[in-house]
Amino acid sequence: MQFKQDYFEQLEGFYSQVYPLPISQPHWLAWSDDAAELIGVERKLNNGDTPDELLMQLSANHAMPGASYYAQVYSGHQFGGYSPRLGDGRSIILGEAIADPRYSSEPLNKTSTWDVALKGAGPTPYSRSGDGRAVMRSAVREFLASEALAALSIPTTRALAVIGSDLPVWRESQETAAITVRLAKSHIRFGHFEYFCHSEQGGKDKLIQLLNFTIKQHYPHLTQDYQGYKAWFTQVVKDTAILIGHWQAVGFAHGVLNTDNMSILGDSFDFGPFAFLDTFKEDFICNHSDPQGRYAFGQQPGVGLWNLQRLAQALAPVIESDDLVAALNTYQAELVKQYLLLMRAKMGISMRALTAIESQEQDKTDLDFIGRFCHVLQHNKLDYTNTFRALGQLDISSTKANIADEIIDRPKFDEWYKTYQKRVGNVADIAQWQADRNSVNPKYVLRNYLAQEAIVAAEEGDNSKVVELHQLLTQPYAEQTEFEHYANRPPQWGQGLIMSCSS
Ligand code: AMP
Ligand code: MG
Repeated sequence: MQFKQDYFEQLEGFYSQVYPLPISQPHWLAWSDDAAELIGVERKLNNGDTPDELLMQLSANHAMPGASYYAQVYSGHQFGGYSPRLGDGRSIILGEAIADPRYSSEPLNKTSTWDVALKGAGPTPYSRSGDGRAVMRSAVREFLASEALAALSIPTTRALAVIGSDLPVWRESQETAAITVRLAKSHIRFGHFEYFCHSEQGGKDKLIQLLNFTIKQHYPHLTQDYQGYKAWFTQVVKDTAILIGHWQAVGFAHGVLNTDNMSILGDSFDFGPFAFLDTFKEDFICNHSDPQGRYAFGQQPGVGLWNLQRLAQALAPVIESDDLVAALNTYQAELVKQYLLLMRAKMGISMRALTAIESQEQDKTDLDFIGRFCHVLQHNKLDYTNTFRALGQLDISSTKANIADEIIDRPKFDEWYKTYQKRVGNVADIAQWQADRNSVNPKYVLRNYLAQEAIVAAEEGDNSKVVELHQLLTQPYAEQTEFEHYANRPPQWGQGLIMSCSS
């Protein structure tokens, strides 16, 4: 692994140097070849006598050459209230690994990098009362979520590996520690800006320093001046809107959308009690610590804006309020645009060339129509993923249709279907229309009950289900007939699982 140390070298005062503490009996619990390609690393599977040096380095048993080891400081709004000092409480960053240019989407003249972080590598000055560790179940969930979202082309941080150990940690009961090796284009969060705006050691100079660094590293086409700052914030608004558009379309609930869990690049970030929807439920809550549903599935679009408003407040010393408001005002349209783009593709609704006014009208009609479809799903307690997937078998030219056996209210459904058929219009090649649906409606998503089954087996020493589930989710659109059962709706125990925040 080759590192740059730009954050470490250029942002003194924005982190604490801290060395990770090893975990005992380290072993590979999960590994992502796709993530490994991004930074050009390979693992050697244990052959019994020589432990893999990479395993020893990533489990903090050996030093990693070129690593700086630091924890970033930030703050954030958590469940609506401001926490003035947070920071990486259990994640230690090694540095920015230089991406393998063969697999980078960036132009060759710009070397892109991936921060490599060991999540669960011991306490830091920001651990508060925590032990700096992560339990295996939460490490596996972060790993699977990152790689599943990436395979669905949803912006996200990545996970290279989960390293298991026999180190005991205490939560509600004794569990074992693990480390997730996280890769992120950046670990800078909304909360970083909030910290340097609101903290006494911060102030405008630090805020500008952070802003210039962020622009230089991640938005090199923008200038480090007032025009650049404005354009940058507008881009953050857009990237956040695009991310949430993706989540709403695929049926993903993050669960803890505090501003310290919001990546400045619009990546899905910091996975805790997240869920992919099984049965469609607009107000689905996946987080046990959120009984009010602040972060319920259907609240995410509004929360995205609320979080951006907190970021705007933090930027107020640098960007004038009119300009901040103008950027915030683009959020809703960007989100709707992204959501409609994805939902039209999912449903097979194409767009003709229209004038601007006609197109606005069409957007309204389609949003309303998609909303009615979601109502059909909710009313009939249908599975979100499977119902969309069923469109890939639908003969849209036939006047009678079935996309789920569970429809309770058949007349209402038939009425909706007639409108749908009309909106889809004439389809010249039905097989192609169906294949197109299958290319955007995943067959397999990371259902909570599947993650849970794999974790229970891993806790008993068998990680094969974690490996299998990960493999399956790298190709979410493929049929993979031998794994058909992974597309099943949850059994009763696994329905509407609400996960604990303890991790
Ligand atoms: P989260 O809810 O996972 O986003 O965590 C909120 C804050 O608590 C972050 O600053 C984490 O680094 C910190 N944190 C969570 N769990 C632990 C832990 N076991 N030890 C130390 N810090 C933790
Ligand atoms: Mg967090």
